[in-house]
Amino acid sequence: IEGVKDIRIALTASQPRRTLIAVASGKGGVGKSTLSTNLAIAIARTGKKVGLIDADVYGPSQTRLLGSDEKPTADDKKLNPVEAHGIRFLSLGQLVSTGHALAWRGPMASGALAQLIEANWGDAEILVVDLPPGTGDVQLSLIQKSRPDGAVIVSTPQALSLIDATRAVDLFGKMSVPVIGLVENMSGYTCPHCGEQSDPFGSGGAEEAAAAMGIPFLGRIPLDSALREASDVGTPPAASGGPQSEAFEAIARKLMA
Ligand code: ADP
Repeated sequence: IEGVKDIRIALTASQPRRTLIAVASGKGGVGKSTLSTNLAIAIARTGKKVGLIDADVYGPSQTRLLGSDEKPTADDKKLNPVEAHGIRFLSLGQLVSTGHALAWRGPMASGALAQLIEANWGDAEILVVDLPPGTGDVQLSLIQKSRPDGAVIVSTPQALSLIDATRAVDLFGKMSVPVIGLVENMSGYTCPHCGEQSDPFGSGGAEEAAAAMGIPFLGRIPLDSALREASDVGTPPAASGGPQSEAFEAIARKLMA
């Protein structure tokens, strides 16, 4: 797929610069953090060494999603990522107490993100960055200071979400960051009782939007209460390889192909 070429180059270079993949969305609540966690784990399960950075200033949720309340230590003023489910991660949520707002202006948030990126990532080959929703300060400073190798954009199939996803695609495009593709989350629901299929947020919207924008469509993740329940208790589905992990594995394979 277009854009992935650049990632391959970064992965195979003899002195590899770590490959940085930004996960972004136009709106909040569309499953960007859920995708970041499970994609990072699914990539790690292909044999890569993966780090995950939770840069969502408004709602850092990776400690919860990964079921870890361990605080990172530091060496030489650099943070040491915490291990969970076969990946290493750092989250803004580890740096503040639960329930306390990160009342930071742009420069502080960008400074904190820089600390997370410049941490002791050791032999990590790929860093997945879970960005805040939208197209604000944190996105701009990540793009300008760290030059991601590519961006994955998440949206529900709903027009309201897709319109804002288009803005995120536009931002990365304007700043010459390759958009790896669009993922449709909360795509179709199968009733666990009667098996009836329905589309609470519509269907197919993201694939059409990706085609209209000329970017790859990376796949669909169904709306699934088992996925939500597993996420809530810190057992990411991608780690167990169960039925809820398939969609994430497929997206990870596309990224690594
Ligand atoms: P964002 O990072 O975009 O704000 P989250 O990943 O935090 O979104 O997801 C928002 C909420 O939706 C969470 O409660 C999460 O568990 C739930 N969720 C995300 N994706 C799905 C899905 N495919 N099926 C069911 N629940 C989901």
